[in-house]
Amino acid sequence: MTDKQIGKGTKCVWGGEEEYLMQNATQVPVVHSVSYGYSDIDQWQKVALGEEKGHIYGRNTNPTVEVFENKICKLEGAEAATSASTGMGIISSTLFTFLHPGKRVVSVKDTYGGTNKIFTEFLPKINVDVALCDTTDHDAIEREIAQGCDVLYLETPTNPTIKIIDLERLAAAGKAVGAIVVVDNTFATPINQQPLTLGADLVLHSATKFLGGHADALGGVICGKENLIKEIYHYREINGATLDPMSAYLLLRGMKTLALRIEKQNANAMAIAQHLDSHPQIKKVLYPGLESHEGHDIARKQMSGFGAMLSFILKDESLAAVGKVIAKMNYAHAAANLGAVETIVGPPATTSHVECSAAERKAMGIPESLIRYSTGIEDIEDLKDDLDRALAVLA
Ligand SMILES: *Cc1c(COP(=O)(O)O)cnc(C)c1O
Repeated sequence: MTDKQIGKGTKCVWGGEEEYLMQNATQVPVVHSVSYGYSDIDQWQKVALGEEKGHIYGRNTNPTVEVFENKICKLEGAEAATSASTGMGIISSTLFTFLHPGKRVVSVKDTYGGTNKIFTEFLPKINVDVALCDTTDHDAIEREIAQGCDVLYLETPTNPTIKIIDLERLAAAGKAVGAIVVVDNTFATPINQQPLTLGADLVLHSATKFLGGHADALGGVICGKENLIKEIYHYREINGATLDPMSAYLLLRGMKTLALRIEKQNANAMAIAQHLDSHPQIKKVLYPGLESHEGHDIARKQMSGFGAMLSFILKDESLAAVGKVIAKMNYAHAAANLGAVETIVGPPATTSHVECSAAERKAMGIPESLIRYSTGIEDIEDLKDDLDRALAVLA
C-alpha cells in the first residue's frame, strides 16, 4: 500500500515508528543519551558527514525525536521534517533561515502573537522588508506578493478572530514570484487541513497544542520539501533550540489519538458554535463551520473539518464580563494554551494579545469581550450546560 491509501487514523498510530523498536518493545524508546559512540572511525566520519544514517550528538539529532518527525511527515504527506523545542523555536528558525538583509516577507496582520513580534520587532532590525496585509483581503495580499516576495507566511484559521485564508489561491500567487510558501497549520491540524496539497512548500505546527493534545509537552515541527527542511535543520542545529527526547515521546504518544480527538473536537465545536449562535448573552460567534462565517466557503473548500477553535463575543463588551463568565465555568481551564483534551478558555487581553493595550486591540478588530474557546473532548451536553450556567451570570 502507498502512503496515500493509508488512512490518517492508521498513520497516527503506526506512522514513522517502524525503525526504532528495540528488543521487541512495542513502544518507541526514549533515548536520553547526549552522544553516540563509534569504535570504527571511518563509520563515525560517514555519519558525521551525513553520508550514513546514525546519530552523533543530541543537539543535532536523536532517535526519539526522529520518530516524532517521521510521524508528522506521514500525516502531512511531506518529504522531510525537522523539529524544535517549541512552536516559536521552529517559526523563528524558519524565518531566520530564509530572511536576510534585503529580503522581503509578505504575511498577514493576524498571525500568532509571537510570530507577529518577529515580523514587527526583530526582522526590521536586520533590514528585512516586512509587508503585513489585512488577513482576509486576498486582492491586497496578491498585490503585495507581486511587488516581490521571498517568503509568503500564512496562517489559517487565525488566532483569536478565527479568520480564513484561501491557501490554494495565495500559494499560487507566491509560487508565481518564486516565494517559499510557509503555512502555520497549528489550529487546523493535518486531520482537517493539508497545506502541502494546496501548494505550500512548508507546513509547521506548534506541537504544544493539538499534536501533543495533552498540554504536557512543548514542541514545534516543520515539514515539506527536503532541500528546504535541510536548511532549516542546519540553522536550528546551530541555534540549539532542539526538541527534548522526553517531550518528543510525549508528543508522539499524544499523536496516536490525534485523529480520534480531532473528530470529537470538530463535532463538539460545531455543536457549541450552533448553540451559542442564538444565545441571548452572545453578540457573535466566530466559527468557520457556521454558514454565516465570512470564510465559510473557503473553509469548506480547503478543510475536511472546521476544527476545535472558536471565539464568541459577549453582548456586555467589558473585560469584567469575561471575568465573571470564565470564573463560573467548571469544565474549562482559564489558561493561555489551547488544543488539549480539556476545554480551555481565555480572552485576548490575557492570552494572544496581552502585549497590546485595549485601544490597540480595538484598532486590530479584537473586542475586549471576545472569549477564545478551545473545545475539548468532554461530553457535549456537559459543555453546553456549563456555558449556559456561566453565561447566566450576565442575565
Ligand atoms: C501556540 C502557537 C504558536 C507558538 O507555539 P509555542 O509552542 O507556544 O512556541 C504558534 N502558532 C500558533 C498558531 C499557536 O497557537
